[in-house]
Amino acid sequence: MLLVLLALNLLISIALSMSLYYFSNTALMSELDGRLLSAARAIPFVLPDGYIDQALLNQLVEEDTYLNNLSKLNQYATQVGVSYLYVLAKVDQQVRYLADSATPGETQQNNYGHFGQSYADQQRAIQSVIETGKNYRGTLKDQYGEFRSLAIAMPYGQGQFYVLGADIAMAEVLARQSSIQLRAIGFGMLLFALGSVMAWLLASRMTAPLRRFSSAVHRFAAGEFDVRMPMHRHDELGNLASAFNAMGDAISAREHLMRQLAFSDRLTGLPNRVKFAELLTGLINKGQPWLAVVMIDLTDFRYINDAFGFEAGDRVLCTMSDRLSQLQPDQLRIVSRVSGNSFALLLSAVNESQVQAQLQTVETILAASIVLGEQKVNVAIRSGIAIYPLHADHAEGLLRHAEVAMFFAKRDRESSVTYDPTREESRLSQFTLLGDLREALTENHLVVYYQPKINVASGMVSAAEALVRWQHPSRGWISPGLFIPFAEKTGKLRGITEWVLREVLRQQIEWNRQGVHILVSVNVGVSDVEDAQFVDFVEAQLNIAGTAANLCLEITETGVMHKPDAMLQNLARLRRLGVQLSIDDFGTGYSSFAYLAKMPVNELKIDQVFVMSMNSTFESVSIVRSMIEIGHILGLKVVAEGVETIGIWQALAVMGCDEVQGYLIAQPMAASDLLVWLAQGPHHPSELTPPSMANF
Ligand code: C2E
Ligand code: MG
Ligand code: MG
Repeated sequence: MLLVLLALNLLISIALSMSLYYFSNTALMSELDGRLLSAARAIPFVLPDGYIDQALLNQLVEEDTYLNNLSKLNQYATQVGVSYLYVLAKVDQQVRYLADSATPGETQQNNYGHFGQSYADQQRAIQSVIETGKNYRGTLKDQYGEFRSLAIAMPYGQGQFYVLGADIAMAEVLARQSSIQLRAIGFGMLLFALGSVMAWLLASRMTAPLRRFSSAVHRFAAGEFDVRMPMHRHDELGNLASAFNAMGDAISAREHLMRQLAFSDRLTGLPNRVKFAELLTGLINKGQPWLAVVMIDLTDFRYINDAFGFEAGDRVLCTMSDRLSQLQPDQLRIVSRVSGNSFALLLSAVNESQVQAQLQTVETILAASIVLGEQKVNVAIRSGIAIYPLHADHAEGLLRHAEVAMFFAKRDRESSVTYDPTREESRLSQFTLLGDLREALTENHLVVYYQPKINVASGMVSAAEALVRWQHPSRGWISPGLFIPFAEKTGKLRGITEWVLREVLRQQIEWNRQGVHILVSVNVGVSDVEDAQFVDFVEAQLNIAGTAANLCLEITETGVMHKPDAMLQNLARLRRLGVQLSIDDFGTGYSSFAYLAKMPVNELKIDQVFVMSMNSTFESVSIVRSMIEIGHILGLKVVAEGVETIGIWQALAVMGCDEVQGYLIAQPMAASDLLVWLAQGPHHPSELTPPSMANF
């Protein structure tokens, strides 16, 4: 900007000084020419009266007279500021001086000045004036130098002219011109200097705010969102500054919100995991010698969401958050919501015994009932503990280990577990197992075993339960108890269920060809039957299998209990597809009678815990009897699983149990073995031998 203004200023200064020079020079020349004109015109009046007329008549001019005139003209020339004055005319066909102001010592003829030595240009000019009667004005040169000359044609006689001339030495003209030049240059320089100052002022007035603006933008881009522009201008720059500041305010506000969101939990307003880790790191860095981090999980929180809706779930979380926040700093230093239903706490405890006492307080205040609608709900917690510096020396490690410990507390149904690295190793191996599971499904490492069920009244094999086994390439046989619960927790169960279902239906088609028609029960997870797409899958598979399909799905009682409404529709659809439904492990889920009545199921399978303990406790016998009665009242078939002794079989038969399944009859076996076993018959209790303990 400044450069442009300076260039412009230079151009203007040059143009102005050049025009100044031009006008001054023109004025000088016209002043000089005016001086020449008046000096030349005055010559006849300086000379004696009639002198020129006499001289023109070719009368002899006395030398004294000539010299006298010369002195007069010389004096006059000096007075008026010209270098030379002269009168020239043609006398005797020769151009001669009739008078002049400074004749040098030339040879005189008739005492006239001699013009013979004149330069060609000068001669031509004078000849032309004398002959044409036209004045001459210009530069002429002779042996005395160069002059600015004026030669005026003066008429006399018949068409004749003589010349009145005046000269000014070019040296003087040039001296005057160069002083004009100097003045013009000085003026130009002054103008340029003034212009430059103005340009600088203008540029700095315009560019300084722009520079400030540009630096503000750079700082802004670098993350300094609190940079603002001064706004004391009312021009475009002022508008720009206010727009910039408005943008800065908006970004700051958004950043503030983002920071809040990044560090706090929106629902409860508690610090989130990131913030908790930051606070914990701060304490560790301050040199705290011992810290106890606890991760707590609200047990069965999922079911509160399912039964009462998400709003109620949120209310429970906020209540828990309030209760934890009310704890005094001598019990709890930091509380944070780290994920859905998990809270991380930093206890004030300084040793392990204090941890247990403080955790007890936390459990007590959280266990107090919460009113949801017309119901009171009690939320239990499971917690994992990690100690600094014993289990980790940094915040993330402590959080992770507390989480791992909490995972074990949940899995093993303990109220609290302190982190134990050896336990984690086995968990890690489960993770690797989970990775292998994908391969197991694609490489067909899974195998379905079948455990027959016997109709108590007829003693005939009526059905079989499909139980999956994993023939792991390096670990050998893995029982479902080791991978099914884990697969279910990590959302990997669907792949297994679908694989087993396909395999069972394929097997039924094969058996069908061989004349074997038995109902096969397949275990499914609650996440399967919750999903309408799973029902679509079953429908598609049934269509493929056609009439060979004779399917029952077993769902655990705890599973069916929790998602009644969402699941009922799917179960009803499965029933319409001709699939039988069974409630597995009945007795462990505390289903209400009313609830059971609503379920579109065909069968109750009494959990083996009750069946097996019939041998030892009388109470179990009456429980099993009640279960059989409930099943029958509801019009359901009742199956007892885990039948290992003839005594239990007989007791079940007396109580009216419809079917039995257990090691007494047969262990789960490969499909081909089942065919052989079926062919071996009979399977009545009197002919059966109880299983040996080696089979367990
Ligand atoms: P479940 O459905 O209750 O199956 C019965 C379990 O009891 C089977 O164990 C069976 O081998 C065992 N059992 C049967 N009779 C006796 C007996 O007289 N005494 C004793 N002690 N046990 C007996 P398994 O095969 O290890 O399966 C365990 C659980 O794994 C099953 O319990 C079922 O919940 C699950 N499971 C097995 N296969 C599948 C499957 O394909 N899909 C799903 N979702 N779960 C499966
Ligand atoms: Mg089962
Ligand atoms: Mg069972």
